[in-house]
Amino acid sequence: MRMTGRVAVVGGGIAGLAAAYELEHAGIEAVVLEAGDRLGGKIDSVEVGNLTVDSGPDGFVARDPAATELCRRLGLGGDLVEPAARGAFVWVDGCLRPLPERSVLGVPWTADAVRGTGIVSDEGADALARGLALDADSRPGDASVGEALRPLVGNEVFERLVDPLLGGINAGSADQMSLEACAPSLYEAVRRSGPLGPALQQIAARRDRGGDPENPAPTASTQARSMRKTSDDDSEAPAPVFKSLRGGVTRMIDALAAELGDAVRLSAPAQSVAPTPSGAAGRWRVATPHGSLDADGVILACPAWESARLLEPLAPEAARILSEIEYAGVALAVFAVPQDRLARPLEGRGYLVPRDQGLLTTACSWAGAKWRHYHHEDLAVLRVSAGRTDDRRWLDLNGDELVAALAGELATTGMISATDASTGSFEARVAPWSRGLPQYRPGHLQRMAAVHDCLAGEAPRLAAAGAAFGGVGLPACIRGGQQAAAAVLC
Ligand SMILES: Cc1cc2nc3c(=O)[nH]c(=O)nc-3n(C[C@H](O)[C@H](O)[C@H](O)COP(=O)(O)OP(=O)(O)OC[C@H]3O[C@@H](n4cnc5c(N)ncnc54)[C@H](O)[C@@H]3O)c2cc1C
Repeated sequence: MRMTGRVAVVGGGIAGLAAAYELEHAGIEAVVLEAGDRLGGKIDSVEVGNLTVDSGPDGFVARDPAATELCRRLGLGGDLVEPAARGAFVWVDGCLRPLPERSVLGVPWTADAVRGTGIVSDEGADALARGLALDADSRPGDASVGEALRPLVGNEVFERLVDPLLGGINAGSADQMSLEACAPSLYEAVRRSGPLGPALQQIAARRDRGGDPENPAPTASTQARSMRKTSDDDSEAPAPVFKSLRGGVTRMIDALAAELGDAVRLSAPAQSVAPTPSGAAGRWRVATPHGSLDADGVILACPAWESARLLEPLAPEAARILSEIEYAGVALAVFAVPQDRLARPLEGRGYLVPRDQGLLTTACSWAGAKWRHYHHEDLAVLRVSAGRTDDRRWLDLNGDELVAALAGELATTGMISATDASTGSFEARVAPWSRGLPQYRPGHLQRMAAVHDCLAGEAPRLAAAGAAFGGVGLPACIRGGQQAAAAVLC
């Protein structure tokens, strides 16, 4: 029987808001309980140089339609925009070097794409050439990206291209990430019969056509496609890989907030979830500091450690699994640099920094070139990221120290002069996300499936969603919220 009544949604990030929006559309009252004093979670912005700039996500994968479709439903279809710049760089041995134009997650399908570029040595290119010719008859199961890829592409390509691209975006280490969850196209490539090079080329061609016809939609591949934020993010495909909203991604949150109106309660952290005293199956009481809320369903759309705490008395095995998910801290510093102080033109979308280059910076996005809405006559907008799961140095610095250190690195990489870096000829704001991105270790998708199974068995009409589950990218979080809404409705 389809439920009626009210659903409490714990967490007002994109997953929770997408869930609540879906519920309201189905005629079910949703109450969003958000611990903080604003909605959006990781979706936020900072004011710098009179500009409002995204300080979390600044776009989303276009081929996974969940985010674009939600924008259209919210009346924002006319404001969907594509990147204005193509091409990106990698900082290696004192130079910004163009990334290979075509690759799957940093792995090109010919060694010539890296030979002579300075990104890897001749030996590194030779190792790639050997790997690309190898019959990929190994079936790695859900190995880590490093376990599966290092033997195939060689350590240099792995460390200079794959890890910066994949690890940088997830603030993780590709040596520790689930191949299946974080790099689905490479997972598929290494499992295909025949040599790796042609497999990569075929996967890229299919990707460029905008679909996965050979990979219909069982749960894991749906989740895998959702992760394309990670896997295809900076590979150069003919069709635009990314979209954003004119004015920034926060507009999605503003539109959802307007739709949900009074359904949102800010500064209302869920302290506990328990069955109501009547003991009726699927009736829940959510305690907040302002009193409790009885509901006919609950969606937990908060970070994994919070869901784990709330689930502990209700579904201990699910709670245990969620409590083991590690989060990486990442800082996003937005710089507004006077155009006439830039030391190089911004022709491209920015650059990645491999970990062996010893910088705090993991990536620098030339936001003012990448997105037209950040074009400014007088100011260049740069979004500089620092921090990985195994590099927590930025957490020892206060905001000013971090800005000074990252400005120094902008000088190192030739973006501004050393004098401008030390005299502070720029404005900067830092968004510190101390537990920013969940890390998907091998077996992640199977563990998350087990969490969903536990909830279905032990906690009727209680579902969970969010970045910890089927993808950290916005489309995956949105779809996860929508699926959680569907789960409590039936
Ligand atoms: C710096 C950065 C850059 C990123 N860039 C991109 C990008 O370009 N593209 C992309 O697709 N993705 C990107 N991501 C990933 C993406 O932003 C996140 O994975 C996604 O926004 C997470 O959404 P969520 O709803 O799952 O969780 P969150 O945004 O974390 O929201 C969870 C909410 O739950 C609330 N909460 C916690 N505990 C409780 C409680 N007890 N009661 C009530 N509320 C509670 C929190 O306050 C928070 O508002 C980026 C992430 C970061 C950190």
